[in-house]
Amino acid sequence: MTTAVPGAPARHSRSGDADAIVARESRHVLQTYKRNPITFVRGQGVRLYDVDGREYLDLLSGIGVASLGHGHPALARAVGEQAQTLIHTSNLFYHPLQGELAERLAELSGLPRAFFCNSGTEAVEACLKFARRYWHTKREPRAEFIALDESFHGRTFGSLSVTSDEHYRAPFEPLVPTVKFVRTNDGAALAATVSRATAAIIAEPVIGEGGIRPLTPEFAAAIRQACARTGALFIADEVQSGLGRTGYPFYFQALGLTPHLVALGKALGGGVPIGAALVGQEVADTVSYGDHGTTYGGNLLACRAALTVLGEIFDRGIAENVKRVAPAFEQRLRAIAAKHPIVKEVRGAGLMWGLELGRDAAPVVPAGLERGVIVNRTAETVVRLLPPYIITEAEALEALGRLDATLGAVGASS
Ligand SMILES: *Cc1c(COP(=O)(O)O)cnc(C)c1O
Repeated sequence: MTTAVPGAPARHSRSGDADAIVARESRHVLQTYKRNPITFVRGQGVRLYDVDGREYLDLLSGIGVASLGHGHPALARAVGEQAQTLIHTSNLFYHPLQGELAERLAELSGLPRAFFCNSGTEAVEACLKFARRYWHTKREPRAEFIALDESFHGRTFGSLSVTSDEHYRAPFEPLVPTVKFVRTNDGAALAATVSRATAAIIAEPVIGEGGIRPLTPEFAAAIRQACARTGALFIADEVQSGLGRTGYPFYFQALGLTPHLVALGKALGGGVPIGAALVGQEVADTVSYGDHGTTYGGNLLACRAALTVLGEIFDRGIAENVKRVAPAFEQRLRAIAAKHPIVKEVRGAGLMWGLELGRDAAPVVPAGLERGVIVNRTAETVVRLLPPYIITEAEALEALGRLDATLGAVGASS
């Protein structure tokens, strides 16, 4: 038996705590998430620990967010220091960090301006609004957006309107009506659909939620040609694929694309909520005071977190770590996939991978948790892997070993 220290917070050490947490949520939290029955209380690097002290290797990073892993000392220090200094002042005043972060993102992306918000969906909303604003200013009010069949751009009305999945859309219709979807990586379909009525094409350079599907170089060329022919803008949604995840700062760079607008989120704050819309000069020139805004967007805490994350990734060797570990990760993943007949295809880039199964991938998640590895199912049949950028080769091989055992168990029972 342990003795409680007076005044110390209760230590979560028994499963009873987990049950109480689940019971309280089930009474009072709106039931929009079907959670796995695991309660995490602590993290360190690529490892997470649950309320019973069990250890897990995290190949998901809170859906691509914990880019520096968990409990990162520099991020923890920066956020703690900033919280004690100044968290928030609103966008009615200047503070020193927003311009610094915008400048950093401009250097990385080539897009000179940034608008800061709090999530990926808000970044997409901003891009859609700025695209409409551009055509409004040009006195050629184009309304139409072209999006892809497996797209996911977020849950607010505008972003949902360019998201293809009927499951997400149907309960909330009517959505923004001026959206057309084309088949992913079908250049001819894109060419046939984009016209002088198109305000913008929006696409994820690597489709994430829709099953980890990198756009092909041929399709990227079709996007370039369609934009050149019609004047349509191109919005790159790099919320999941951006900021070093694929081994490039942005995957649009790997595809040779030059977007007019880029949406960012997920990895940017390392877990502190922040999103950004990056804006090319031609579009930026059409945006005026008051056109868009947010109370929290780009506050000191969020900007300090993002500056720390970008500094670690691009100045202190983490991008190089992704490039170093990614080939070994891919090689091991392909070797494992080849052993398990339930795996039909392996897709991805850098540290962003999907295993397409010949069946529903849902049972892989609990089977992985039982074996101490965290993965996710997306697009019904895909096992998604988004490990933290700080993962070492040894940790990657250990985690993939657990995934190997998991696929073996799921394959044997199907
Ligand atoms: C996650 C995601 C979004 C939405 O981001 P939220 O922070 O959940 O609003 C948008 N686009 C892509 C590509 C995403 O992966």
